[in-house]
Amino acid sequence: MEIGYLVKEARYYRKVTGLSRAIKRFLLIQTPMKKIVNSLLYSWIYGREIRKKTKLDNPSILQIENTNFCNARCIMCPHVSMKRKQRTMTQEEFEKIIDNVLSSYKIKRIVMNGFGEPFVDKGAVEKIEYVNKKYPSVKVDMFTNGALLDKQTTDKLLKTKLDRITFSINGTKKNYHKIMQLNYDDTMKNVMYFLTENRRRRKRILTNISLMILDDNTKDIKKFIKFWSQFADSVRFYPPNDWAGGLKNIIYKTPFSIDKRWPCIYLWNNITVDVNGNLTMCCRDYESKVIFGNLLKQDIRDIRNSIKFKELQDNHLKHNFIDPVCNVCDIRFESSLDWICESISNLLYSYLVIYEIINKRD
Ligand code: SF4
Repeated sequence: MEIGYLVKEARYYRKVTGLSRAIKRFLLIQTPMKKIVNSLLYSWIYGREIRKKTKLDNPSILQIENTNFCNARCIMCPHVSMKRKQRTMTQEEFEKIIDNVLSSYKIKRIVMNGFGEPFVDKGAVEKIEYVNKKYPSVKVDMFTNGALLDKQTTDKLLKTKLDRITFSINGTKKNYHKIMQLNYDDTMKNVMYFLTENRRRRKRILTNISLMILDDNTKDIKKFIKFWSQFADSVRFYPPNDWAGGLKNIIYKTPFSIDKRWPCIYLWNNITVDVNGNLTMCCRDYESKVIFGNLLKQDIRDIRNSIKFKELQDNHLKHNFIDPVCNVCDIRFESSLDWICESISNLLYSYLVIYEIINKRD
């Protein structure tokens, strides 16, 4: 990862109050942070911070599922067994939901993803344009497998004010098809076109390539980094998760033990909306098992103030993770950093800017 990219990324996260999973994992695994988060002093300070922040109803991230169709059949994704009816959100529904949420909350970042491939939706670019035009200060972020991102769609997309795009590639030519059931050459053509045009036209879209570490691709990781780091701003790796018990063949092992599980920030910071307009718990609830209300019919504030929603938040504040989805969710170790991510982003950003200035002088 280049320093220039890290500065851009730290600046991005400083504005959207969060850290990517990759940065959180790096801090918890590779630095003394793991000892710090298990100390009593940290626990005390962190607990106070959480009590202070949870008094406010101030979500900053909206995740919206524009479609729940997917063109891939990845081995580490339970989409194949998903029982929810598949559809694509209309432009009218999308605008209604965006206006409902953004008229009540100061949203900083919209993630246009749910449990599907966003470009199955032929109107995906128009949806981004709507946000750009009506809410120009809001950042737009998306994840895609890139297989449907043809030249024509990329040309349109590069005219929007998309802030960040992550391509989930998950393999090399040797194993890509086995892992994702997509054609490697077709995807490569699309992704390379996007990456080269993004640079050539001097667009400011941050580009990430992500790979989920699986038995089938572990041997190729070095090759993967070497190749993609020539073209994208960053290359990232993630261990698979079991989607809150949805994937029986994946047993998630946390890389170290965390003494205490903390309230999940998603319930305060994120608003997750499925393709039917339902306010759900978070992206882990891919079947929309827990629904709090519908944003096409109800006001977002009424839903977030409902007894059902407040009860779930209260249970988390009491360290009571009895909800069937939260109970088995593997995000627990990240919760030990989530509530101070904003401060870490600011620190990281200041450090990197100073580092960059000193290096430029040399
Ligand atoms: S603990 Fe897991 S399932 Fe529960 S709200 Fe957080 S991310 Fe979602």
